[in-house]
Amino acid sequence: MSERYDIAIVGSGPAGLEAAINAVIRNKKIILFGTENLSNKLIKAPKINNYLGSFDVTGKELMQKFKEHISAMNINIVEERINNIYAMGEYFALMVNEKMYEAKTVILAGGVEYTKPLKGEEEFLGKGVGYCATCDAPLYKGKKVAIIAYNKDAEKDANYVSELAGKLYYVPMYEGEYSLNSSIEIIKDKPIEITGDTSAEKLILKNEELNVDGVFVLKDSVSPGQLMPGLEMEGEHIKVNRNMETNIAGCFAAGDCVGKPYQFMKATGEGQIAALSAVSYLDKK
Ligand SMILES: Cc1cc2nc3c(=O)[nH]c(=O)nc-3n(C[C@H](O)[C@H](O)[C@H](O)COP(=O)(O)OP(=O)(O)OC[C@H]3O[C@@H](n4cnc5c(N)ncnc54)[C@H](O)[C@@H]3O)c2cc1C
Repeated sequence: MSERYDIAIVGSGPAGLEAAINAVIRNKKIILFGTENLSNKLIKAPKINNYLGSFDVTGKELMQKFKEHISAMNINIVEERINNIYAMGEYFALMVNEKMYEAKTVILAGGVEYTKPLKGEEEFLGKGVGYCATCDAPLYKGKKVAIIAYNKDAEKDANYVSELAGKLYYVPMYEGEYSLNSSIEIIKDKPIEITGDTSAEKLILKNEELNVDGVFVLKDSVSPGQLMPGLEMEGEHIKVNRNMETNIAGCFAAGDCVGKPYQFMKATGEGQIAALSAVSYLDKK
């Protein structure tokens, strides 16, 4: 059996990190999933004046302080993207491609994605459209694939997919330098719609159309409802009570993913409540 953690925290932004430090203080065995940069939103913030104790800081400076804090507490970030979480009764199964992690409780702290889905994106999800390029790349061996990329993290995935796909188009939704294999064609255009008959066949952009067998849409977060079947939502947000409990026993949520206002302090406060609620849930068992 794989190692079973007390608490799995999905997301390395302020909500997830605050949950992690509180759970460790309470002697729980945790696993924290996310990225080395902690949060793309955090590093983009130009000037922060509403985070108590840190006046006039940039997002990058705050990120550095957060990193120092977790490293002083020996908390590591596992750089994996959770694709699905299943409630198995006694525990949760967190899936990363074919790999599975087990935890007695889960804290969802994956943030929110501001962008609306493209026309056709939800219709063809699982039928040529996917959110995890590394999971599904083998399905497109020798075929034509487009990646619509909302952040730099997608470049690593694109380079991997390009080794399997026959042709890879990369549609960046951000500015900057792109570290991509030379075989990848960069398309600087605005995606409008994914069309097809029974599966995705075309990516329609403002100025051109691409014939494709698959489209990967790579964003910071996917809808939590898709991540975890059975999770009750309230519009785009996870429904929680004041203890940050979701409708699934043992599953808690915190930060932007549970609702507005989207702010650092709110996210950290909720992360702390979620961790303490998970601790009392575990202690009652
Ligand atoms: C430009 C900008 C400026 C801002 N300025 C301010 C400000 O001045 N003051 C303020 O209070 N707020 C500000 N905010 C808002 C603030 O950034 C957010 O409220 C805050 O980051 C929310 O924290 P979070 O932990 O809920 O989510 P996030 O910070 O979004 O972190 C979520 C993390 O989880 C990861 N993740 C998601 N899904 C998965 C998965 N399945 N597996 C693994 N990892 C996953 C994501 O990649 C991300 O790293 C600003 C936001 C932006 C964009």
